[in-house]
Amino acid sequence: MKHCPECNVEYIDTAIRCSDCDVELTLGPAIQEEHPDPKIETVYATGDPALVALVKSLLEDAEIEYFTKGYEIQDLIGFGGLGGLNYAIGPVEFIVAAKDAPTARELLAHLDDAVPDELPEEEPGT
Ligand SMILES: [Zn+2]
Repeated sequence: MKHCPECNVEYIDTAIRCSDCDVELTLGPAIQEEHPDPKIETVYATGDPALVALVKSLLEDAEIEYFTKGYEIQDLIGFGGLGGLNYAIGPVEFIVAAKDAPTARELLAHLDDAVPDELPEEEPGT
């Protein structure tokens, strides 16, 4: 088996040059191009700076590698300039390798228990 180093087409051993590229063939089967698509998953998303810090520390404690998306973007977009919206921070997505996703989700599942979705509203006294 030979293959063309230019176009990666396979040829029989008796072939010498690639008919398309006119280059000498290389011994061996064509190179199987692998695109190890890194499997990643978003495991959490929040715009709450306190939660962001909490999620980070949880993931770091569990030694789960993660990266965030959105955190850096907000400066560029400048949410503050949009019609008086006063976001201190844009929504931050936490992204981990798919293999770590179940562990991360399990860790972060408890976040919802610890942090109420809504702050308790103080009823004005009568
Ligand atoms: Zn070729």
